[in-house]
This record gives sequence, C-alpha cells and structure tokens, in this order.
Amino acid sequence: MALVGGVGGAKLAHGLAQILAPEQLTIIVNTADDFDLYGLRICPDSDTIMYTLAGLVDKSNGWGIGGDTTHMLGALRRYGQDTWFRLGDQDMATHVLRTSWLRAGCTQTQVTARLAAALGVRPQILPMSDEPVATLIDTVEYGELAFQHYFVRYRWQPTVKGLRYVGAEQARLTPQVTAALAKADVILIAPSNPWLSVAPILAVPGMRAALVARPIPRVAVTPIIAGQAVKGPAAKLMVELGYLPSAAAVAAYYGDLINGFVYDKRDSGLSFPALRAVALDTWMQSEGDRVILAREILTWIEGF
Ligand code: GDP
Repeated sequence: MALVGGVGGAKLAHGLAQILAPEQLTIIVNTADDFDLYGLRICPDSDTIMYTLAGLVDKSNGWGIGGDTTHMLGALRRYGQDTWFRLGDQDMATHVLRTSWLRAGCTQTQVTARLAAALGVRPQILPMSDEPVATLIDTVEYGELAFQHYFVRYRWQPTVKGLRYVGAEQARLTPQVTAALAKADVILIAPSNPWLSVAPILAVPGMRAALVARPIPRVAVTPIIAGQAVKGPAAKLMVELGYLPSAAAVAAYYGDLINGFVYDKRDSGLSFPALRAVALDTWMQSEGDRVILAREILTWIEGF
C-alpha cells in the first residue's frame, strides 16, 4: 500500500505498478487539494495518479493529459474569465463525469474506481476519505488561501504561516481504506510533500492510529534531496514552518508513523538514529528510474 499526493507520489506509484501485480498495490490518495471550479468537482492528485498509471499523463508537466488542447479555457476567456487554473479539453471529460456521478449519489471512492477502470488502471486507487477535506494555507501576504489559489494561482510564492485541513475532523475512513489498511503487508509513504500531500491523509481520524498499529514495514521515501525539493514548495515550506529543510527533518516529522526511511545517496552524511534507513538514488529523472527505485525499495524491505 502506498500513501501518495500528486506528481512526486505518482512517479513512485508508477514504478510500483510496473513490478507488482495489480492486487498487490493499493494507492491511498490525498483529496485535500480537491476543489470546485465552474460547478465541477476537480480532484488533482487523484487524476494525476490515474493519468500516470493509465499512461495518459502529460510527461513534461507530470499532470494533465498529454497532447490535450485548451479550447474551452480560450472560450472562457472570451467571456472575461480569469482562467488561472489550467483544465485541458480531454481532462474536462473526467471532471464532468465525476461531478455528474457524485450528484447522482456515488461516493468519491466509487467514482474514482469507475474512472480508473475505464482507463484500464488496475491497482486500486482509494481517496483518503469520501467526506470533503480542504487544505487552507495561512500566508503573510494574502491571509488564508484555498490550496489551489496558493499553489497554482500564486505559484506557491506566498510565505506560509500555518496550515489547516478543514473538514478533516468530520472525515471518516472508508470501508475500502479500512480493509486495505488491515491487509497491507508494507506501507510506503511516497516522496510527496509531507505537509501538503501526506499530512491531510494522516489527518483523517483513525488513519494514523490504524497505520501505526500495523506491525509491518512502514517506510517513507524522502521528497527532500540535499536540502532541496525536487519540485515544488516542500523545502521553502519547511523553512517557513520553522524546520531545517532536510531529509532528517522529514523523517522526524513522521515520527513513530514510520519504522523505515529511504533517503537519497546524495545525503550520505545524514543519520537516522531510531530508524532502519537506506540511501538510494531517489531522484526519478526517467521512467526507468521509477522502476529501479521501486524495486530497490521493495528488495531492501524484504530484508527488514
Ligand atoms: P505535487 O504537489 O503534485 O507535486 O505532488 P506530491 O506532493 O506527490 O510531490 C511533491 C514532492 O515530490 C516534492 O516535495 C518533490 O520534492 C518530491 N519529488 C518529486 N519528484 C521526486 C523524485 O524524483 N525523487 C524524490 N525523492 N522526490 C521527488
């Protein structure tokens, strides 16, 4: 089982999907980036995972559908709309169907399963919860921002003072997530942003306790290499939240949630006292690197 956010998480999930049988891989995805736009429910992390595993993803962005057009956005601009959030024309089909199925009474778990199955994705992708949770970012410059405004509209440049996961307290574990947690024999936390992608998953009541209760390898993969994020705001956010941006601080942040940690071989000077830790080349620059890293991690875990 893997806990994932968006692009960083999708890369490792893609590697795992190529070496594990579909029934051996369950992906629990962050839903706290989800939001409504033009009356449609948009679920960016879930779609990034789904498009990546379906082989449809835009390889240069790591999100969206490769080769997609943006005629609809052009038409919205003709109406004077500020189209700060990019939605491709083919991508729209996902949002239209998801929204109509949700309105018809399907759960997000059911909708995700239907969409993924139709695209030929066989590993199970499970939203962390069926209740809405929304990450809000308190910033110095603009006050509290909805996640996509911080991340996309302002390109994660505002200075972060704090984070809230609104709705998390009312969210519940789904029967599907509960079952997957009970049967997992390895838990991997992908190299996703710990505060923006993984923390909301852990904020669902019962999630962290259910993970910690499992006497199995619970291993996180660092999103920080040599003090820097491969992409996105993770290192900047760590500084703003008062952490030293390093793989060691990420491991410490996860605390007793994990009993193993994969850090990058470029950080060979680091030590992780209370954990089993291994230094690997975690920078997935090519599609082949994803498979190599996934295999190396699983081989290392076999010797746990
Ligand atoms: P995103 O917010 O949609 O990009 O999704 P995630 O939260 O899943 O991933 C973001 C995190 O992934 C960032 O902190 C990156 O540093 C990390 N990341 C992205 N690519 C890689 C990679 O190839 N190797 C490692 N170790 N981390 C990565």
